Amino acid sequence: MRDVADKQQAMSITEKIRQFAQDSGASVVGVADPQTWEEYAPTGHRPGDILPGARSVVVVGSRGPTAGAWRSPSHRLMEVNGYDFRNDAAIHRVADVIESQYGHQAIQAPGLPTEGHLPPMSMMLSAVLAGLGTRSLAANIILNPKYGLLYYSACITTLELEYDQMLKQDVCPHPMCVKTFRRFGKTPCMAACPAEEGGCLDGSIDASGRIEYSSFDRERCVTRSMNFGINSFQKALTEIVATEDEKEQENMIHSDFFSRSCSAITHYKESVAQCFECMRVCPIGRAERKLK
Ligand code: SF4
Ligand code: SF4
Repeated sequence: MRDVADKQQAMSITEKIRQFAQDSGASVVGVADPQTWEEYAPTGHRPGDILPGARSVVVVGSRGPTAGAWRSPSHRLMEVNGYDFRNDAAIHRVADVIESQYGHQAIQAPGLPTEGHLPPMSMMLSAVLAGLGTRSLAANIILNPKYGLLYYSACITTLELEYDQMLKQDVCPHPMCVKTFRRFGKTPCMAACPAEEGGCLDGSIDASGRIEYSSFDRERCVTRSMNFGINSFQKALTEIVATEDEKEQENMIHSDFFSRSCSAITHYKESVAQCFECMRVCPIGRAERKLK
């Protein structure tokens, strides 16, 4: 149990860190209690498994594509300019300031696999537990009530901060999507990528307007939304080294496919996702993208 002075100090430090994260590129900032992972994540995937003695998890969410990029008739520009890893940059600055100014340990939570295919910590779960959003019908993307799609990073620290609560209200489905579902049997995201027509999304909404069932074909989505990345680089490289004809090999190396794969893995500029269609039609966060 914290006494009043401790609580006030934690609140004041939390506000300073929140502001610092926003100044560093975060659109939203939340703080979660590491103990809440006990209920939702298995051993090995909790903050305390990554940083012993963890007392807080700071989560930041940053916008990817700008409002102009969403409007561009060239969807290709969304891929190339869509994501700049500013959430990672912001969380690194947060970790630095916690260590340098407050004398506590801090580490970026590993949101990418360190072995195998699963990350040690889920950034989706982190965002939910820090009260920044809820799971949606569109590929399980965590939607923030104000911004919709955001990119999340987290920092685990031994510094005790003031925790945020999980959102009480589901962000998805939007009231307009409930109406659309009642009328046509589909929400806009489901209609953009319908499972029964070779797409990835299916679901239903119950009588109270909440998600009743949802299905997301992750493998199919990856073949569409992540054509260029580590997997495509490995695939192309395997084919290149197996090709005996030198001229053909050279052509493969200079091909658009291999160039984009190299670009993707070096973060030279190829986004981590190449499909935004379910998010393009999502009404959540649209107001934020309506600029002059
Ligand atoms: S990202 Fe593209 S392929 Fe994946 S679910 Fe959304 S619309 Fe479908
Ligand atoms: S369009 Fe957006 S708000 Fe509507 S159901 Fe799909 S993800 Fe949810």
